[in-house]
Amino acid sequence: MMDMDKRILQIMDILKKEFPNFQTLLNYKNDFELSACVALSAQTTDASVNKATPELFRRWPTPAALAAARQSEVEEVIHSLGFFRQKAKNLIAASRMLVEKYGGKVPWEMDELTALPGIGRKSANVIRGHLWNLPGIIVDTHFGRVCRRLELTAQTDPVKVEMELMRLIPEERQHEFSMTANFHGRKYCMSRKPNCADCPLAELCPSRIHRTSKKPI
Ligand code: SF4
Repeated sequence: MMDMDKRILQIMDILKKEFPNFQTLLNYKNDFELSACVALSAQTTDASVNKATPELFRRWPTPAALAAARQSEVEEVIHSLGFFRQKAKNLIAASRMLVEKYGGKVPWEMDELTALPGIGRKSANVIRGHLWNLPGIIVDTHFGRVCRRLELTAQTDPVKVEMELMRLIPEERQHEFSMTANFHGRKYCMSRKPNCADCPLAELCPSRIHRTSKKPI
């Protein structure tokens, strides 16, 4: 097989061509809305979040408004999303922090973002990448699976996957690769039945080559 750097470049180029519009599927209008959407998207789909957020942002359009909201009312609005009590609590607490510490703006430092209730490293990287195009690898279940099947990493721990891929992917393409590999995992490289026959990365994928003798990871 060709050397790793060349293979990664080819993988990145193919994915970028396949998914030229690699924006998040979450609907948002500003930094506050994106951070809230990302926090709400844990353990649910982006489509479900998009159904709940118009009413959420209509009633509480700013961090200051959400910071002053009654938790029970926020719970009612995001009830369909699962873990709604914890999410409502986190949204209100994070909004308070945004108001008290950052003048109502979303901070860009990783440490500051991950100190916000409901925001972990994955969410912070989504926010940093989309709002400021800052480098970072966004590891979710789709991304991790695709990278393991492509043998870009053998790690299963999300933070270890993130660190390994940060070393492999040039900084200026980390956000792009995070998003396009994620979309690839949803469209072709599904967990149970990857569509290797139609996969644009098949020629570069060790899991595809060995597929007759072993199942994809
Ligand atoms: S060839 Fe199959 S296992 Fe490899 S990336 Fe494509 S869909 Fe996934």
